[in-house]
Amino acid sequence: MPVGSEAPASQELFRRAQRVIPGGVNSPVRAFRAVGGTPRFMVSGDGAYLTDADGRRYVDLICSWGPMILGHAHPAVVEALAVAASRGTSFGTPSPGEVDLAEEIVSRVAPVEQVRLVNSGTEATMSALRLARGFTRRSKIIKFAGCYHGHVDALLAAAGSGVATLGLPDTPGVTSATAADTIVVPYNDLGSVETAFAEYPGEIAAVITEAAAANMGVVPPLPGFNAGLRRLCDSHGALFILDEVMTGFRIGPAGWWGVEGAIEGWAPDLFTFGKVMGGGLPAAAFGGRAEVMTQLAPAGPVYQAGTLSGNPLAVAAGLATLRACGPDVYATVDARAGDVAGIVSTALTEQGVPHLPSSAGSLFSVFFTDVPSVVDYAGARTQSSARYAAFFHAMLDAGVYLPPSAYEAWFVSAAHDDEAVERIAGAAPAAARAAAGVPEPVPATSAGGMRP
Ligand code: PLP
Repeated sequence: MPVGSEAPASQELFRRAQRVIPGGVNSPVRAFRAVGGTPRFMVSGDGAYLTDADGRRYVDLICSWGPMILGHAHPAVVEALAVAASRGTSFGTPSPGEVDLAEEIVSRVAPVEQVRLVNSGTEATMSALRLARGFTRRSKIIKFAGCYHGHVDALLAAAGSGVATLGLPDTPGVTSATAADTIVVPYNDLGSVETAFAEYPGEIAAVITEAAAANMGVVPPLPGFNAGLRRLCDSHGALFILDEVMTGFRIGPAGWWGVEGAIEGWAPDLFTFGKVMGGGLPAAAFGGRAEVMTQLAPAGPVYQAGTLSGNPLAVAAGLATLRACGPDVYATVDARAGDVAGIVSTALTEQGVPHLPSSAGSLFSVFFTDVPSVVDYAGARTQSSARYAAFFHAMLDAGVYLPPSAYEAWFVSAAHDDEAVERIAGAAPAAARAAAGVPEPVPATSAGGMRP
């Protein structure tokens, strides 16, 4: 496995970083623990490409783990940021851009009547949980194994993303009292949710789910699953929280809800958003029915706050991104996602590598497994992380940057043009051969890491 000798500048930066930053990174899965080797330190991005400290250029298939739907350094976003920065970076007062961004979100996602801006997806889900508990005056929550909602204490149990990548069952630092209020059930299993409600009558404040699970690889909800959660929450007086941090404004103008709930006629009580709506800056949000949202301080008693919430730069980048996300962007991203998934699947098939492409809208990933379908975390864990690692490194060597973990979604942007797709097509056959060379059809029981 490459150890980084081919990337001397990154190797030197990583050496320095490990002395002053735990594990050398500021978010675990960036560290390449699941695939081996030296993480690449990126110095710039343009369109579909990233350039590392050694001057090597990569087609980027993580897009900052979702936000960069327009590609890197999109002119409209750069311009909006320059204008905002020239006016000052933070005021600690309300500012007009916050109203514009809130109105943009409310106009796109019909069930959202009010929205509160925060700084990260973690903050959004943490605050949504607090609000649900304050509103219902109940303590317990239900989450699904393999779903990741940020590093909120209550939501780290059996979490996806980096927790899955690193194979961590739980994390020290979360008290047993907190863990006891989290009920973890298998994804796509309404029966288990029903059983949990029966076991804890009148105690469950909320069910939280990724709108389409994409932190254990991509595992879309089975038909009727999200609608069934809505029904069960109604029957038991709990709130339904749809986490659209990953899917929001990426799957379409109104996120996953827009392609499922809007058509089937259901809505969650609360949504959480992040990533695309911040345009690559730290901005996120939670929102929903006014009856629930007005419980938040200062309108109501549930406290939530933030020095930099609604920061003018973040809001400007987010607004510029959302305003540029028209039908053409979604059509391009959908088409490119299909192209890349098809190229990779064809190359793996030609080399006889068992695999299962999986997608939810333009989010996709490839499970290196021989099971016929993956509907939950147990299924996701049948994949071979060793084969993925071999594939990852061959792609990296050929200038294609994939998620350094088999448990993450792959992302494309509207800037992924024919040239970028051709580069992926050129790299895939050798990468498939590298994966085929790993003698391991054995199910992996752990791998992975924690987001991003
Ligand atoms: N929710 C989901 C579905 C996510 O995918 C993530 C991060 O990947 C989060 C929440 C946490 O967001 P952040 O990393 O901005 O805290």
